[in-house]
Amino acid sequence: MSARRVVRIFTGQPTSDGAGVRLTRVIGTSALDHFDPFLLLDEFKSDKADDYLAGFPDHPHRGFETVTYMLAGAMRHRDHAGNQGELVAGSVQWMTAGRGIVHSEMPQQKDGLMWGFQLWINLPARDKMTAPRYQDIPPEKIPGVELSAGVRARVIAGEAGGVRGPVEGIATRPLYLDVRMGAGARVSLDVAAGHNAFAYVYEGRVAPDDGSGGTQDVGAGQLAVLSDGDAVTATTTGAPARFLLLAARPLGEPVARYGPFVMNTREELVQAAEDYRSGRLLG
Ligand code: MN
Repeated sequence: MSARRVVRIFTGQPTSDGAGVRLTRVIGTSALDHFDPFLLLDEFKSDKADDYLAGFPDHPHRGFETVTYMLAGAMRHRDHAGNQGELVAGSVQWMTAGRGIVHSEMPQQKDGLMWGFQLWINLPARDKMTAPRYQDIPPEKIPGVELSAGVRARVIAGEAGGVRGPVEGIATRPLYLDVRMGAGARVSLDVAAGHNAFAYVYEGRVAPDDGSGGTQDVGAGQLAVLSDGDAVTATTTGAPARFLLLAARPLGEPVARYGPFVMNTREELVQAAEDYRSGRLLG
């Protein structure tokens, strides 16, 4: 077994997107443009309505997948084809945009805490123009598993502790875990060798092994890029902590990106923008 260690730590940057939603961008910044196949990671967390009420009115996507995971609050999703649903606390929407969708993502509350994550994962060239697909997973369909004393994970995609997550059929074979550790806990998590992996801490502090007998401290709002290997070990000290563990097969393909379109070449991007303008994005 070879241990993954922390290679580099990135701190999320405050920004706003949509119609003025305040959020923290962790991947998709000037410091960390992308981490193949991960294109973007946002954390939105606020109990001030002005920070989120404007939501994300109609906008397109083509060429990748968006994964929304809600911790608190509720968001209504509605697309051009009439698909819609409410993402409640604890639920996940895994949307494979493929050749194109136009949708809105709007908060369904006028006050209270809104907290969650949106992750963008790239599609391989051969799947970029595939038909759109939704996997809407309600909270009760996301299994929890106890991994060690004081450590539990919700398994959204991939496998942990012999438990398999509900999201299936994704090209990059992702692992998506929401890990909750008590104080003074230790856990070892299997991660497929050769896949790119990171941990994003969103509460407390987590200390993954540094590979030389010590640990490296990662705090809330920080992302730790992990080296290759087949497992990562992490500990907590005086306080509980929560983090996301993500891993996926890197594509190794060129990335051409413009806003909500992520393709392989500049020509394909121009085509996507033109298709959107002329109403042909959806094929
Ligand atoms: Mn969207």
